[in-house]
Amino acid sequence: MSQTLQAVRGMNDILPDEAEFWELFEDTIRSWLKAYGYRPIRLPIVEPTPLFKRAIGEVTDIVEKEMYSFIDSLNGEPLTLRPEGTAGCVRAVIQHNLIARQPQRLYYIGQMYRHERPQKGRYRQFHQVGVEALGYAGPDIDAEMILMSARLWADLGLDGIELQLNSLGQPEERAQHRAALISYFEEHAELLDEDGKRRLYTNPLRILDTKNPALQELCAAAPKLIDYLGAESLAHFEGVQRVLRDAGVPFTINPRLVRGLDYYNLTVFEWVTDRLGAQGTVCAGGRYDGLVGQLGGKPAPACGFAMGIERLIALISDAGGAPAAPAPDVYVVHQGDAASRLAFRVAEGLRDQGISVLLHCGGGSFKSQMKKADGSGATFAVIIGDDEAATGEAQLKPLREEGAAQLKLKVDDLAEAIIGQLIDSDEEE
Ligand code: ATP
Ligand code: MG
Repeated sequence: MSQTLQAVRGMNDILPDEAEFWELFEDTIRSWLKAYGYRPIRLPIVEPTPLFKRAIGEVTDIVEKEMYSFIDSLNGEPLTLRPEGTAGCVRAVIQHNLIARQPQRLYYIGQMYRHERPQKGRYRQFHQVGVEALGYAGPDIDAEMILMSARLWADLGLDGIELQLNSLGQPEERAQHRAALISYFEEHAELLDEDGKRRLYTNPLRILDTKNPALQELCAAAPKLIDYLGAESLAHFEGVQRVLRDAGVPFTINPRLVRGLDYYNLTVFEWVTDRLGAQGTVCAGGRYDGLVGQLGGKPAPACGFAMGIERLIALISDAGGAPAAPAPDVYVVHQGDAASRLAFRVAEGLRDQGISVLLHCGGGSFKSQMKKADGSGATFAVIIGDDEAATGEAQLKPLREEGAAQLKLKVDDLAEAIIGQLIDSDEEE
């Protein structure tokens, strides 16, 4: 017997019960983004590999070890499944000259791919909502992004998600801090782990982002970037904080928040919960003023963030917020040739009136069909046998009311009766 095939490790099927909930979640996301003036952009899942090397940085976890890269066997082109969305979004903005005349607020929702060790909240295929504002320099847009994420947690009924904030300053300021950091770590080189030693001269800032508990103390006492920021960077940071204080959004400044991608400057932030174990960051982002220029566009400031959908869905489900799957209004039960033909007409006619209908398919006795009607959660069964078909009638049976009477109606009168009763039962609730 041949072995059954399985999905790739770390890549999940999202089955209907869950996928229905994902759709509701995405509906909430879309209307939330619309309320802040963000517009959708749809981007390829595959991009040229050099895009990510240039955008994310060669010495980052993502580029060093997490990318699904391959050579297109037909033309030899190096390609990569996108590990994040910002690089592709900026590529598209440059390619189509989108910010030549006005800044843009953009978003996308979709799959990302990283070759990580799969565990709760960490997968090899996962989904992000990405939000990018391009062409805005001031701290107002950074602050608005944070305010809008705070509103989303409220819209989703989530609490206990805490905001951490930092400023990475500008490249010159980081260079000075970097030099100080290198001397500090050189003095304590014997305490560094393998990753740390490797990063010491390539990307010492990333040592601060280590997940190794043995390095926590060493990192806590390291020179802090904030002490190297000039007046302009500090004013930008203060600008963000002022809006947050005005809006009453609490935050913690975390000087060790550096983010795993090289393109950030000034504001960086993360929203973190302690309810998801080690994978507690549900949303992360910041400013990336250098990226448009770095990818060959006319330099333009920008800011963005991404949310992990799997982690948010897990949080909502843990909070008991996953709603029951929506049930149809009507389940159509039918038996016999003439009845089946009429059943199709009735089902389409009801749908014309905005009623949701599950038409029984696959035959079977009235009794077994009625069981399915019950199990579907439908409010009504519409029952058609050949007797009813002969007179152009159907039985309307309320399924959710104890002892409610079954009515025999002309098929043309069904929609009105159903809509009337659906409204009545809504009013009673
Ligand atoms: P982490 O520190 O958890 O590895 P990251 O800094 O690599 O996260 P980002 O690149 O900032 O993550 O991505 C933004 C968000 O996408 C994260 O905050 C998280 O919610 C989600 N995310 C990132 N990687 C994964 C993954 N492998 N599986 C599921 N969600 C992920
Ligand atoms: Mg990561």
